[in-house]
Amino acid sequence: MSNTTYTTLLIGAGFSGIALGVELRKRGLNDFLILEKAEEIGGTWRDNTYPGAECDIPSALYSFSFAGYADWEYKWSHQPQILSYLRQCAADFGVQDHVRCGQEVTGAHWQAEAGQWIVFCRNGQQYRTRTLVSAIGQLHHPSTPKLPGAETFSGATWHSARWDHSVSLTGKRVGVIGNGASAAQFIPEVAKEAKSVVVFQRTANWILPKQDRAYREWEKRLVRRFPFLLQLYRAKIYLLTSLFYFAMQGGNRFFRSVLERWSKWFIRRKIKDPAVAQKLVPDYPLGARRVLFSDDYYPALAQDHVTLETDGIAQIVPTGIQTQTGTQHELDVLIYGTGFVTHPFLLHIDLRGTVGQSIHEAWREAPRAYKGISIAGFPNFFMLYGPNTNLGHTSILLMTESQASYIAQAIEQLVKNDWTAVDVKPIAMHAYYDRLVQRLDDMIWQQTKNSWYQTADGLNVNNWPGRTQEYARLTARVEWEDYKIV
Ligand code: NAP
Repeated sequence: MSNTTYTTLLIGAGFSGIALGVELRKRGLNDFLILEKAEEIGGTWRDNTYPGAECDIPSALYSFSFAGYADWEYKWSHQPQILSYLRQCAADFGVQDHVRCGQEVTGAHWQAEAGQWIVFCRNGQQYRTRTLVSAIGQLHHPSTPKLPGAETFSGATWHSARWDHSVSLTGKRVGVIGNGASAAQFIPEVAKEAKSVVVFQRTANWILPKQDRAYREWEKRLVRRFPFLLQLYRAKIYLLTSLFYFAMQGGNRFFRSVLERWSKWFIRRKIKDPAVAQKLVPDYPLGARRVLFSDDYYPALAQDHVTLETDGIAQIVPTGIQTQTGTQHELDVLIYGTGFVTHPFLLHIDLRGTVGQSIHEAWREAPRAYKGISIAGFPNFFMLYGPNTNLGHTSILLMTESQASYIAQAIEQLVKNDWTAVDVKPIAMHAYYDRLVQRLDDMIWQQTKNSWYQTADGLNVNNWPGRTQEYARLTARVEWEDYKIV
């Protein structure tokens, strides 16, 4: 371990880590390092390279407010352009030089006397820092269910977040388990190449038309010439996506029913077989799980060589999948579009706070974090995209920027005042959490038992139940009366 004690160490160089890096530099807090486990920055936009990977929020809003971009090719950009945008931001704002790759953090222990964290990496490296920030996101450990017989499958198989580009799908019989946001994006692309595709759907999702299109050259030129137009356009998209918040409110049936009718109309228009159409209509209210946007998913399913299988999977056999009603699907390739391990938070990181208690013990009942950012007993530790800060309706980067500004402000004051430690008071954290849980009860997410927003006990630990403006107000300044300062 070197003798250097950093002011700040960040874990993860995705959108969150880069956003905080920009904020720290803006405030002259240049003594920070971003530890990145992979060999390059990018987070989810580096890992998810599946065909058709793109954003489900228009790019004018799924981009930093401080780094408007006039050259998006599509309204909803594709993964390569989003990754290159993030790389460009890291370079332009001087954050790239603060990134150290190949450093997978496996633990961090608080040392009260020294007022520092000791951070451990899988490669044996250790670091010291006064403040530590997690920017590891909520969706980065692929979840591959242990289905009976899975290990016997003789063909190629992979998870959507670890796409095997070495295997050509041309002329192959492909099975896809799952039909969530990722699968709905790659199934249409897979169907263009494969001889046949079987989609194993367990639960239908609400899908709305994306109405995607490429931007015209004159539009890009206009925005380059008059950058304020980009701001206006961003504001328009913000207002439109914000409307979806109404669908997330449990009591707001009207707006939800309008969207459900639109979605059902979309199914009828694209799927001519009534039996298939019926299987695509969800049996839970729109908004209870992530609403998907796609122009090409239903048309892909409508093709003769694509089959929607809704019988449960009984077992995987060497040659394919057998369903619970005995149908045998012969497959050459099996792709898991089965999402991510979203609980517990800070998976595989042994974070130990004031009394040596691990974060996973502290969070045994529920992952509680004040404003989703600070955890009592874990001084000088902050989270970006922490518990209950995910959104169901608009760009997550709005939340990221609020958190980055809050955390940078806290670190700035800690440094300026030469405080050793700031630790949120348990009473403040519990009061915040109790109110949050009450509000979650009013949201539509509670009306299904099966979503990645919830733990096995049905507790929603991922989502923020308010609007983004409210969260921005909540995090506009650090309320130091809620923290114990040493
Ligand atoms: P997901 O929404 O969690 O979908 C996982 C799918 O796998 C579901 O259809 C699920 O069925 C199925 N599944 C899981 N375990 C299974 C099992 N044992 N047997 C059969 N089926 C099983 O995962 P995702 O599609 O990767 O998306 C996750 C989140 O990532 C999204 O909600 C979104 O927030 C984000 N995302 C964003 C974008 C973007 O455009 N920005 C793109 C992709 C993903 P059930 O529904 O029955 O559980």
